[in-house]
Amino acid sequence: MNAIKTVCPYCGVGCGLEVIKNEGKSTANGTTSKWKVRGDRSHPSSQGMVCVKGATILESIDKDRLLHPMMRDTLDEPFRQVSWDEAIDRIVNQIRHVRDTQGADGICIYGSGQFQTEDYYTAQKLLKGCLGTNNFDANSRLCMSSAVSGYVQSFGSDGPPCCYDDLETTDCAFLIGTNTAECHPIIFNRLRKHLKTTPWAKLIVVDPRRTQTAEVADLHLAIRPGTDIDLLNGIAHLLVRWEYFNPDYIEECTANFAQFAEVIRDYTPDTVAQRCGIDVTDLELAAQYWGESHNVLSLWSMGVNQSSEGTAKVRSIINLHLMTGQIGKPGAGPFSLTGQPNAMGGREAGGLAHLLPGYRSVKDPQHRAQVEQFWGLPAGQISPYPGRTVWEMILGLERGEVGLFWVAATNPIVSMPDLERTKAAMRKSPLTVYQDAYYPTETSQYAHILLPATQWSEKSGTMTNSERYVTLSPAFQKHAGEAWDDWEIFAEVGRRLGFTEQFAFANSAEVHAEFVQLTRGRPCDMTGISHGRLLAEGSLQWPLPDTETNNTNNKGQRTNDNAKRLYTDGRFHTPDGKARFAGYHSRGLAEPPDPDYPFVLTTGRLYGHWHTQTRTGRTEKIRQMHPNPFIEIHPRDAEKLGIGDGDTVEVRSRRGRSQFPAKVTKAITPGTVFVPMHWGLLWADNAEANALTHPESCPDSSQPELKACAVQLRRV
Ligand code: SF4
Repeated sequence: MNAIKTVCPYCGVGCGLEVIKNEGKSTANGTTSKWKVRGDRSHPSSQGMVCVKGATILESIDKDRLLHPMMRDTLDEPFRQVSWDEAIDRIVNQIRHVRDTQGADGICIYGSGQFQTEDYYTAQKLLKGCLGTNNFDANSRLCMSSAVSGYVQSFGSDGPPCCYDDLETTDCAFLIGTNTAECHPIIFNRLRKHLKTTPWAKLIVVDPRRTQTAEVADLHLAIRPGTDIDLLNGIAHLLVRWEYFNPDYIEECTANFAQFAEVIRDYTPDTVAQRCGIDVTDLELAAQYWGESHNVLSLWSMGVNQSSEGTAKVRSIINLHLMTGQIGKPGAGPFSLTGQPNAMGGREAGGLAHLLPGYRSVKDPQHRAQVEQFWGLPAGQISPYPGRTVWEMILGLERGEVGLFWVAATNPIVSMPDLERTKAAMRKSPLTVYQDAYYPTETSQYAHILLPATQWSEKSGTMTNSERYVTLSPAFQKHAGEAWDDWEIFAEVGRRLGFTEQFAFANSAEVHAEFVQLTRGRPCDMTGISHGRLLAEGSLQWPLPDTETNNTNNKGQRTNDNAKRLYTDGRFHTPDGKARFAGYHSRGLAEPPDPDYPFVLTTGRLYGHWHTQTRTGRTEKIRQMHPNPFIEIHPRDAEKLGIGDGDTVEVRSRRGRSQFPAKVTKAITPGTVFVPMHWGLLWADNAEANALTHPESCPDSSQPELKACAVQLRRV
């Protein structure tokens, strides 16, 4: 049997996988798996490479699955198995009830970057179109929304302008707020190979920790948490002072440089080095590398995005590229790495509270009219107001404004910030629907209705990776139990609400075919992409209008440079075609350390684990690789507090507390501590581990910045 080509459902690198029949051979742990997985050499993004998560994905697929719809009236009762009819009737009745009593804004769906694009699209049609509320948000809010806003505000549209080939053509890689070696390992492999064979190429890493990524850098800038904008403005200041900027590009392709130049004027090297806690010579070296390189590529992820000033940080990175003309050419550009497998597809399908499909905005009357007309809905049906972000959904539950909270393919009871507050709000929810592949998860105990969803190997749909390659992930296993695809659940609810025409899809290929028509003429035009074409030709990169020929090389990569990178002609999606500078002064940490809470706690991922461990916690090899959480603490701080390596340390923030074994290491800067983000109640030996407020934030929302929160430490 031929190998089934698919895509890894973990991170946004989007590695191609091949799944092949195992002919009943035993696996390492003694079980017999029908299938085995390997890297797909023909995939243009990963070229056969795969990390431990992709390589072990099959191990988690069959374990602890939610097999049947379940229901209960209150959170104190046990669940009882019900039919799909009964479960969907209950949801439809609640939607009608909430719409009649509170209005449609009392209905909220919180989805996931684990969705396939077809799931996202169907949910947007149901909620934003048919029900007239924009209260759909996804867990991409917790990671990608700053990058979306940064791109939109600077370029007039979302969409990373780079491609992975740029990793192999850059002569200066500037990595800020990303531990790429552990979080996006295949991207890092490609970059490392290039750096090893290109001795003049430089790697600059900006991170308060000496991560595995920083270990191999030519220059590691271990800045104080919260000083990213100071650093970026300081580099910009030196680029101007040393005349490394590109006046022709600035004049022809950008606007607002004068305002930006005014902002960076005061960011002198001494001031910046002192604020960031780095040497002036290191700052100057960073600016020199930037200025002297022909092609500078910036990569960033959560260390930049997960911040109450995340958009300002993203735009400050983009400013550097605009002032030096380092964009729209090989080896250059501001490249946001997506954390989830289909965060990109979510953005394309309009899967955040302020978006509509095809990179449209709910605030734009023309965009709303285009989508209403396409969906066959009356004019004015789509609300002009952005819906609730996920944090605003939690606040709405607190205030009794939300009558239906529908969570799908995500685990907010581990991943949300201010977790005790989140839990209390969810306890007040009149009806919480939880649609997931697994049971139990930490979130299932806060639900009234559990809906079993198919996952990766059981459903056919598309995902888009960080470099805009769309890959089809075909079903090759039967549905677990009575599970349905996520898009099917949304479509059935829509039909029962009376929208039979809008949801007359026979399969996900039809959903996709409809969705791509909404991208026609848009920056993310993918009218040339279909399930059939993906099956026949492999992954395809957008923009790919149906009028365009797609020329590729023998690795499946596009040969037309103007198609694989955006903005090669220096024209952007703003009304005058010019990109926008924006100068920001840093506000610093939203919750800086003080005498009561003197340390800054940061979080991040480990190489093997994925998010809240719903899959990787069920994979033996990965559990053995990372059996326990830990807290990294600098030897100087440890000595002051009498903490030795391996001692149990209680970490307390203003919102919660937890305990971890200490890892005393110089990898972390004094005054800062680090904890991996993956352990919730289900996977922690210590039941208290879940009590700590999860220090990840909704970027640019009104809540405190929690990527880096103030904590106190004590040896237990
Ligand atoms: Fe999957 Fe990301 Fe690993 Fe690739 S790098 S195999 S996409 S987890």
